Amino acid sequence: MRSGLQRGNGMTHSFRRLGYAQVSTPIERMERLGRALGGANLYVKRDDCTGVGLGGNKCRKLDYLVADAVQRGAETLLTVGGIQSNHVRQTAAFAARAGLSCEAVLEPVLADPPESYRSSGNVLLTELLGTRVRLAADGDDLDAALEARSAALRQQGRKPYVIPMGGSNAIGALGYVDCAKEILKQAAADGLRFDRVVLGTGSCGTQAGLVAGFLAEGAAIQVTGYSVSPTKAKKLANLEGLVRATLELLGCEAPRDLTDRLQIDDGFFGSGYGQADPRATEAIRLAAREEGILLDPVYTGKAMAGLLHAVREHLFEPDENILFLHTGGSPALFAYPDLFGDLVRP
Ligand SMILES: *Cc1c(COP(=O)(O)O)cnc(C)c1O
Repeated sequence: MRSGLQRGNGMTHSFRRLGYAQVSTPIERMERLGRALGGANLYVKRDDCTGVGLGGNKCRKLDYLVADAVQRGAETLLTVGGIQSNHVRQTAAFAARAGLSCEAVLEPVLADPPESYRSSGNVLLTELLGTRVRLAADGDDLDAALEARSAALRQQGRKPYVIPMGGSNAIGALGYVDCAKEILKQAAADGLRFDRVVLGTGSCGTQAGLVAGFLAEGAAIQVTGYSVSPTKAKKLANLEGLVRATLELLGCEAPRDLTDRLQIDDGFFGSGYGQADPRATEAIRLAAREEGILLDPVYTGKAMAGLLHAVREHLFEPDENILFLHTGGSPALFAYPDLFGDLVRP
């Protein structure tokens, strides 16, 4: 199990959590799904159950990011995401609970979305949670829009705190360093050994935190990210940059060559970010019917489609214990009502 850095080589940082996110999330065996796939050892870590604003992976990151914002005396959170952003919804809930105001710039994502995409799911919850949203024009540079809004607020004497897309910087990634430690602790307590963690990856902060955390703990668990958007080269560069920055925050020396720790599979995002894909729809249906677990069409359904493929095609070692990180996202199901056909027939 040991490789890379030695345990205890640093692993200290001075950042605090707010403690809003509900951790330690359960790890459950996916017995029936494993059997349906011919006997795979599948487990799920329920990070869809982190609590704040219906939960999801952004809660662990925001626990650090919003603590930093409060500590710096910020009064407004500023962030970005797609119209159906889980990240924006969770940020809105953190802002409400911390007594901060919150604004978000939303990108359209789909060219010709169903009505529900603009009015239901995450965007409805974000509005309800009191966050002001502004729709960016297609092709707008969101980072530039965010910086411009931040500068305008500062000019008015206000104190904005900018949270990048997906909460993915080294501070946010600390939430998944904690999750890596939590996984090792839970595995030890249950007498289990996980060989691989599988997740959907977008802005890469979740994967980076896990990779940095396992490295810092000297654990040889592989982390496979199924990317939800192009391009693989861009994701690998983001991931490596974030892993290095996170290890630096932890005071851990990064291995010179990280290649074997950076695993991104870009075969399952279909025609693009937020675009429905039949393999993801099948994976969502299967997880729901075999395990009672609700996935989503944008992230976890695509990651599960990748996992189903890998197991069916024997791409992993036959006796691996595989832990699927459920990163949340099911509120977006309500934005894609057509995926599952006419539900109630007259
Ligand atoms: C944001 C998100 C991800 C991806 O996390 P990143 O840290 O951006 O890579 C995965 N799943 C869900 C449901 C998300 O909302």
